[in-house]
Amino acid sequence: MSFGELGLCTELVTTVTEKGYASASPIQQHAIPTVLNGRDVIAIAQTGTGKTASFSLPILQLLANTQPSKPHCVKALIVAPTRELAAQVAKNVESYSEGMNIRSTAVFGGVRIEPQKFELAQGVDILIATPGRLVDLYKQGDVNFEHIEMLVLDEADRMLDLGFVEHIHFIQSLLPKQRQTLLFSATFSKEIKALAATMLNKPVTIEL
Ligand code: AMP
Repeated sequence: MSFGELGLCTELVTTVTEKGYASASPIQQHAIPTVLNGRDVIAIAQTGTGKTASFSLPILQLLANTQPSKPHCVKALIVAPTRELAAQVAKNVESYSEGMNIRSTAVFGGVRIEPQKFELAQGVDILIATPGRLVDLYKQGDVNFEHIEMLVLDEADRMLDLGFVEHIHFIQSLLPKQRQTLLFSATFSKEIKALAATMLNKPVTIEL
C-alpha cells in the first residue's frame, strides 16, 4: 500500500518517496491511519519493521495541522530507553520534517546537560528523551509538559527491563490527561499490558 493511501499529506509522501520508501511496511499500514484518526495505539513491533516512521509521520502531520496556534513548545514527547535509540529516532524525525516548520531535539544522559537546556530554551515541538535525563531537566525547570498532545513510549518493554517504570509513571503524572498515547514494544508481556492499562485510553492494538 502506498503512503498516500494511508492519509498522509503530499509533502510527507514526497519526503518518504525521495528516501526510496516504495511502499508502506505492515506496521505503517496499520499504525499511520489509526494515529491520524486520533486513537491511542499499542503496537507490537520489532526494530527494523519501520516502526519509527509509523509514529513519526502521523505525528508530524497532526502537528503541522495545529502548528500556527502554539509555536515551538513541546507538543509531542517521545520517550526511548537508550541514548542510541533516542538519537536514532531524533535523526529520523529531523529528516522526515525537513522543510516543515517543526523543531525537534533529543535529550539523553551521559553527556553535558547545558547544551540540551539551551536547545530546549530555543523552543522545540517534538522532544525525544530518555527517562532519567527528562526527569532531571523537568526538576531543573527546563521542560514544560503543559502543551503535550502526544506521547510515544518507544521500546516500552526495554524501558521496563532497564528499571524505568517509576520514571515513566512520574512523567505521566505531569502530562495533560487529554492526549494521544502510542506504546511500541517488541513483546506483549503482562507488564506491558499493565502499563498500557494505566497510560492509554481505549487503545487499538496492532500485533502483526
Ligand atoms: P525502524 O524499524 O524504524 O528502526 O526502521 C528500520 C529502517 O527501515 C530505517 O532505516 C528506515 O529508514 C527504513 N524504513 C522505514 N520505513 C520504510 C519503508 N516503508 N520502506 C523502506 N524502508 C523503510
